[in-house]
Amino acid sequence: MSAGSSRTRNPLWQELAATLRGPLLLPGDPDYETRRHVWNGAIDRHPLAIARCIDAEDVAAAVKFAAREHMPMTVRGGGHNVAGLAVRDDALMLDLGAMNRVDVDARSRIVRVEGGALWRDVDAATQPQGLATTGGFVSTTGVGGYTLGGGVGWLMRNAGLAIDNLLEADIVLADGRTVTASDKQHADLFWGLRGGGAGLGVVTRFTFRLHPVNEIHAGVVFYPISAAPALLRAFRAFTPDAADALTVMLVFTTAPPLPFLPAEAHGHRAVALAYCWSGDPVLGAHAAAPITKTAEPLGRHEGLMPYAAWQQAFDPAAAPGDHYYWTTSQFDTFDDALIDALVQRAAQPADPLCEVHVHHLGGAVARIAHNATAFSQRDATFFINAIGHTDAEERFAAVRDWVRGLRAAFVPHARAGMQTNFAGEPSDLKSRTHDPDTRSRLSALRARYDPDGLLAPVRSG
Ligand SMILES: Cc1cc2nc3c(=O)[nH]c(=O)nc-3n(C[C@H](O)[C@H](O)[C@H](O)COP(=O)(O)OP(=O)(O)OC[C@H]3O[C@@H](n4cnc5c(N)ncnc54)[C@H](O)[C@@H]3O)c2cc1C
Repeated sequence: MSAGSSRTRNPLWQELAATLRGPLLLPGDPDYETRRHVWNGAIDRHPLAIARCIDAEDVAAAVKFAAREHMPMTVRGGGHNVAGLAVRDDALMLDLGAMNRVDVDARSRIVRVEGGALWRDVDAATQPQGLATTGGFVSTTGVGGYTLGGGVGWLMRNAGLAIDNLLEADIVLADGRTVTASDKQHADLFWGLRGGGAGLGVVTRFTFRLHPVNEIHAGVVFYPISAAPALLRAFRAFTPDAADALTVMLVFTTAPPLPFLPAEAHGHRAVALAYCWSGDPVLGAHAAAPITKTAEPLGRHEGLMPYAAWQQAFDPAAAPGDHYYWTTSQFDTFDDALIDALVQRAAQPADPLCEVHVHHLGGAVARIAHNATAFSQRDATFFINAIGHTDAEERFAAVRDWVRGLRAAFVPHARAGMQTNFAGEPSDLKSRTHDPDTRSRLSALRARYDPDGLLAPVRSG
């Protein structure tokens, strides 16, 4: 590997570069600019250097170097974290983007996934075998951060959260040691990895349980915004008793110019009901009917399709490089006042790209004991994500205010806490993402496995 000019100026970086098999990127290197940027274009930070690790040995070498130098580290998995936790000023970034190998053992129904893979990498390997495990609602999210935060997705009510399918994790600890965590080895660490968020080490390989998933019945049905209150009431009444095979989402959005929508609807605020039925395909066509029949649709696109195709259906709405800010609120139920507050604000976004996603949990997610993992929100009935999104930097402040306004309106109706994966502010991770018992167990784990806080996702204080 060649040594760039700033690298030759600093023997420390030269030493690290010589230890790694992947490249070490320093400010001034063209790839440094590409890799310091994450999915959220509102994040603009400058790490000291970026170690593009190619395997677990590279990760261990970079971690040992940083530990010796008392240098804070961040880990870049898929780079999707909206708060930008993968990148920090004045820290060493371990970029796992090249570690995206996926090995399927179809007979044992398990998949081994390197720590920098995206969900689309996993689907590409498992779907040809008629298998899948719970991944994100879009396919470009990183397996790493997503899994450590819990992991909700289209298959969760049938197959559980991503962490409920995690069998073991190979992890480089903050002192450079490599261990395997499972319910038999380092069980305390394994508990914390399942929902605790990041900061317990660098996971170089996840091993997940797979489920038979071939074609699913899925679709999206668009309605005029005026139908929103009736749809929300139907969603509230129907989803708590819905079959486990069904996962439904109501999306407040701006109608895109899709061929199955009338031209006069394009560009106007609308509500879309998106669903995925992963049970017997014959039963899928009517699975969401108790909600879809509530109002006259503007247009619909539904049918049998490969699961991997459905998981990519929403990728175009998640354009990398745009400015994003989001938050999440969890609920035991929706009262009518919440519905009114939601509809009023979601109908008038600060940017047409802004969305509000209304989700339900339950099914397999709720059947696992609350304290069996470090994911604190599995007994919530619903959650709502307010997604601030603009492609114009000058509108970003207004977009952020719109999201904050939604959160403030939800507070009187919501449960305490929020899901780690949808936390929009680093400070949320300090006090909001876990209940007090889980938080203190996680603090004790971090003190044990990373006493100097080198991998801490947020700075203390
Ligand atoms: C468009 C979009 C759609 C999403 N959809 C969903 C969804 O359907 N369900 C859901 O639950 N969440 C979803 N999320 C949220 C997502 O799960 C979190 O933002 C998560 O942090 C992203 O993981 P990542 O690896 O891509 O992110 P990164 O920004 O790379 O990392 C996030 C955090 O995890 C740490 N990390 C990443 N990989 C590793 C690793 N291998 N070892 C140790 N630490 C690691 C990082 O250090 C950082 O602290 C979505 C996000 C976006 C932007």
